[in-house]
Amino acid sequence: MATNVLVLGPQGSGKGTQAKRISAAYGVPHVSTGDMFRAAIADGTELGRQVQPILASGELVPDELTVALIRERLSQPDAEEGFVLDGFPRNLVQAEELDVMLEEIGRPLDCVLFFDLDDETATRRLLGRAADENRPDDAPEVIARRLAIYHEQTEPVVERYREAGVLFALRAGGSVDDVFAEIESALVA
Ligand code: ADP
Repeated sequence: MATNVLVLGPQGSGKGTQAKRISAAYGVPHVSTGDMFRAAIADGTELGRQVQPILASGELVPDELTVALIRERLSQPDAEEGFVLDGFPRNLVQAEELDVMLEEIGRPLDCVLFFDLDDETATRRLLGRAADENRPDDAPEVIARRLAIYHEQTEPVVERYREAGVLFALRAGGSVDDVFAEIESALVA
């Protein structure tokens, strides 16, 4: 059976870490828009040049670019048996575009995992990570901007999936192992 999973939640909620574990445990690719943009920047591609200042500021990349990237990625053969989508959709326009794409390829989402975490804990975790990872968007003022955009634009997406009855809320403040155990119970349910 295909595993089509979406991870949603604020920055610092651990969704990237868990998405990698889901990818390894269920044999489906981890599709992360943030990782794809950072790879494009590192490779110096045209896309990378376009998005570099946007990522550094914490703003969202325009929907046209992001939707095209995801459309192309989900059409790759390795995504046929499923995927764990991380960082997309981030606003209602992207959520509608995703519905259209999944409808076209006949693959509805099985589960939307929601990583619920307060801003204070999220900020503390991001500042801790900043020292190790050297991400330009982990500066305090950029973190605040990213969380503000999350509340404004991504929370409505959480509500949309909650209303659709596909949302599974996790206690994202727990340890990596505890959160993964909750995920495993969600994915067999
Ligand atoms: P985080 O969730 O910690 O902000 P990501 O790696 O998911 O980190 O994203 C990093 C940056 O990449 C975002 O701040 C944004 O600029 C850009 N980005 C990622 N996904 C999207 C998206 N779906 N739409 C627009 N911009 C995006």
